[in-house]
Amino acid sequence: MIYLDNGVSVYNSREYRCDPKRCVRDCVNLVSHGHFDHVPSSLSQAIVTSEITHAIVESRAGVKVERTTCEHVDLLDSGHVPGGSMFLINGDKKVLYTGDLCTRKKYFSPGARPVKADTLIIESTFGRDKYVFPPTQETVGAMRDWAEDNAACGKHTIFYAYTFGKAQEVIAALEGTELFTTGPVLKVNGVLRKFGYRLDAEMLPDEPGEPAVIVAPGGGKRDPLLKKYLVAGARTASVSGWAMDRGLTRAAYTDTAFPLSDHADYQELMDFTKAVSPEIVYTLHGFSKELAKDIRTKLGIEAVPLKKGHLTLSNFQ
Ligand SMILES: [Zn+2]
Ligand SMILES: [Zn+2]
Repeated sequence: MIYLDNGVSVYNSREYRCDPKRCVRDCVNLVSHGHFDHVPSSLSQAIVTSEITHAIVESRAGVKVERTTCEHVDLLDSGHVPGGSMFLINGDKKVLYTGDLCTRKKYFSPGARPVKADTLIIESTFGRDKYVFPPTQETVGAMRDWAEDNAACGKHTIFYAYTFGKAQEVIAALEGTELFTTGPVLKVNGVLRKFGYRLDAEMLPDEPGEPAVIVAPGGGKRDPLLKKYLVAGARTASVSGWAMDRGLTRAAYTDTAFPLSDHADYQELMDFTKAVSPEIVYTLHGFSKELAKDIRTKLGIEAVPLKKGHLTLSNFQ
């Protein structure tokens, strides 16, 4: 039995909670990665998670968290962010929960690899066929060119990238360029350095000087330090898979946008599903209805979107 309530609940010989909002006693609480929408607000129970996610969660939540293991659960690289895991839950059946997923090679991961499972619970953030990303190298090349053009015009460059995951990916992608960032990103980098990640970015100077290339969280537009650079005429870019939508620059108030994503695109979601070759697929987040429909019609695999309050009896009940 699989249903959406306080995370994804999976009953497979025993009860598991995947990315619960609150940890539940007498359940195995699984936390896939350190993005806040996947981390329980109450961390009173021990969680099954990777060592890196554990360190990131403790640092970002500012609390001590107990970490445990479960002999029935295999943690596999989800390719999404450093430390991100998929969970293969071994019970009566094999259930694969992807959490947020990326199968494309990234700077810190070769990408998630499919494994055979009877049931697949897959994220569907970019589950529409219009979301097929250009090759990473092409996007990174365009980002480098744009930053160089800005510097040639005496302008600062700001890449808006989420504090954990995207910011580190951009820093690694632009290696060789002198990079600056702000406090929240430096804090995450400090945690990851302990695990051997190379992240070369310095604290942004207090006063704007020579044209700088800056990687900072999008919410940082309100950061007084970043504001000084914006006032000095910095050029700004969003770094997000949503750059595939033309409206992003207008919505995000940036000069441009680059489609570098931590998520699988539509084709990667379809290819991954086909390779897992499950009896049934549950889609979750974003375009869940659209992806489920295409999995049914194009791959011939039973698929349903997992919706809140939607109780689903899967075929192994
Ligand atoms: Zn995420
Ligand atoms: Zn997410």
